Amino acid sequence: MSWQKGHIPWNKGIEWEKRRFILTPSPELSYLIGVNYGDMRHMKYEKKSQFAIGLLVTDKDFVEEFRRCACSITGKKPSRIWETSRVRKGRKKEYGWTIFSKKLFKFFSETLDVHKPFIEGYEQYFLRGLFDSEGTITSCSNKTNTQLRLSFGNKEVTIYSLKLLDKLGMQFKYYEFNSYKKRIGKKGSIPYSNDFIHRKMMYTIATKNKNIIKNFGEKICFTIKRKQDMLIYLINYVFKKYCVICGKEFEPNSNAQKYCNNCRKKNQ
Ligand SMILES: [Zn+2]
Repeated sequence: MSWQKGHIPWNKGIEWEKRRFILTPSPELSYLIGVNYGDMRHMKYEKKSQFAIGLLVTDKDFVEEFRRCACSITGKKPSRIWETSRVRKGRKKEYGWTIFSKKLFKFFSETLDVHKPFIEGYEQYFLRGLFDSEGTITSCSNKTNTQLRLSFGNKEVTIYSLKLLDKLGMQFKYYEFNSYKKRIGKKGSIPYSNDFIHRKMMYTIATKNKNIIKNFGEKICFTIKRKQDMLIYLINYVFKKYCVICGKEFEPNSNAQKYCNNCRKKNQ
């Protein structure tokens, strides 16, 4: 893998850094590019001419994976993960880690077109980084709201992710919106007012399809255990039913299906 000619501004970085590591496509770099479009922070201290990238989130395992990838690329020894000492009311404890590197800072400030060659061949790692950052998985008791979703403000990256998922055999649906109905009252009553709340445009890809969600679990999955557990719960519990006649476990085609295929045939 070579750099695109005439487009290597970050190579003008700190000399010692240049000698120590070269950015080449890898699962670790692809993962970090995904996180870059999600939760990664870029820090610039102009006066000291210091540059850093970092992560500050509530899931410690996410920060650990971020650190592992960054250290694998740079060859730096992993420094300590710090945590927020005082937790504000209603907020969860956060974990953070930062690495000083002008080369990484510059690279992650580049455009998607520059990043694409580094994602190729390692698409699932890019998607995992993105879903660790911006992905949500929800399950409701009525099962109709079970959904795997990626939602954020970057249209180009959302559409690119949609195409990558499609290539991997997972057809997500695409939505965009910049307003939502204000929720009023409790569940059961009329929950929404007719007023719309406007905010910045959001781009979303989502699926409710159990086969796609299963496929996602096998090919991409999450690093974050909290999200992983939800995925496993969905696959093992929500999408499975026990036949009311023979008691055998089966995978229903619809929420209303009560019998396994064998018993259904016999009953007809
Ligand atoms: Zn049965």
